[in-house]
Order: sequence, then C-alpha cells, then structure tokens
Amino acid sequence: MRAAQSVAEHYWSQRIGGGFQPVAEVVAYEREGEVSCGGQPLPLNNAVYCSAGDFIAYDVNWAFAAFQQLGDAFVYYLLGHEYAHAVQARLGIRKEFTIDQELQADCMAGAYIGDQVREGNLTMDDNDTTELSDGLEAVGDDPDQPWFAPGAHGSPQQRFQSFANGYEESLEPCGL
Ligand SMILES: [Zn+2]
Repeated sequence: MRAAQSVAEHYWSQRIGGGFQPVAEVVAYEREGEVSCGGQPLPLNNAVYCSAGDFIAYDVNWAFAAFQQLGDAFVYYLLGHEYAHAVQARLGIRKEFTIDQELQADCMAGAYIGDQVREGNLTMDDNDTTELSDGLEAVGDDPDQPWFAPGAHGSPQQRFQSFANGYEESLEPCGL
C-alpha cells in the first residue's frame, strides 16, 4: 500500500502540478469502528477515502487477504481508486450519481497504473492483467443493484471497462 501510495502521489503531483496536496494520511485499521469518518465508524472489509478528514483508510486484514488471493496489482488498483477520490475532491468534482463518481475513479486508477507502466515506473508481470480483471469483477455490483442507487459502483463489466479505458488511453477517457 505504501509503494502504491508513493506511485499515486508522484503521478498526481505531475498531473495536477504545483498545487497538489497529498492526502493527510493512509491509515490501516483492524477493528470495526477503530477509525471514523465524519463521525461514522468505518466497517470491516472496506477501503475508503474520507473527505471529512482527507485521509484514506482500509481494513488491513481484508486488503492483505485480497493481496493473497488476487495479487499485488489489485492492491495498486485499490489504493489508486481511493486516491482518485482524493483527487476528485481536490478538483471539486462531484457527479450527480455515485456510479459516475465511482467509474471515473476506476478510470483514473487505470490511468495512474497505465501511465506509470508507459513511463517505466511500474512493470506489469504476466499475471497482473488477469489479477486486475478478476479483482474488478469481484468489486462490481450485484446484477440487482440499480445503477442510480446511492451506493452503486457499476457492474463488473462497467468497472473493468472504465479501468481499461484509463489504463489504455490515460486521463482523457476519464474526462480529465
Ligand atoms: Zn469509490
């Protein structure tokens, strides 16, 4: 997570320029409610960008299990997605529907990985593409989730497509 954080901060400081402020901190937690965001205790099995405190927090055991099951590329995606929410906050981006905010964050996570690979700062192993597609499949919404629901993130296909757009074509398909 720390390596992914430093890649993300390097990336966004280049893209946003001099005014870029890194997030206040990236916090690992182990217990439900150990960390709160704007008075809301954070649940287990989650990662989040908390705009109220400008920090990223994640359940470290859950992230470690995902790392073991899916691999390191997924951890870069996970941090990249949450970091993208921090960048959206810095750019004042607030979409009407959650799903648009989420799919843009997936696209931005794709761009940060793809651009860093193109610039030679990250190397993709043979398995990494499979890891990413499996991982995005796992974090996609269930088919019965309406796209306009407040918690909607997008179907597995939508999430993978957004990520792939950013990965292949950088920030332009993300609308940035
Ligand atoms: Zn998100």
